[in-house]
Amino acid sequence: MQQRHKPVRRCLACGKQALQIELVRIAKTPLDGVIVDLGPRKVSGRGAYLCKTAKCWETGLKKGRLDHSLKTSITPEEKETLLVFSKTLN
Ligand SMILES: [Zn+2]
Repeated sequence: MQQRHKPVRRCLACGKQALQIELVRIAKTPLDGVIVDLGPRKVSGRGAYLCKTAKCWETGLKKGRLDHSLKTSITPEEKETLLVFSKTLN
């Protein structure tokens, strides 16, 4: 049997490449704004990936990298939600 190609994504904070399942996807949706995409069905919209470590989330949020990746301005409320979520990761 041939090995199937697994999708690899890059963490926008530390630049580490990892399998998609090892990263968390953040999506910008037209209706709900910026949300954490926890699957199983992929949220449509522009997406960005971060490691499952709080540090990368902090970096991504503080330096505006996530805003940049998603081509949006993340509101303070959304940022807070993402930070709270990141605290559950470690
Ligand atoms: Zn990372």
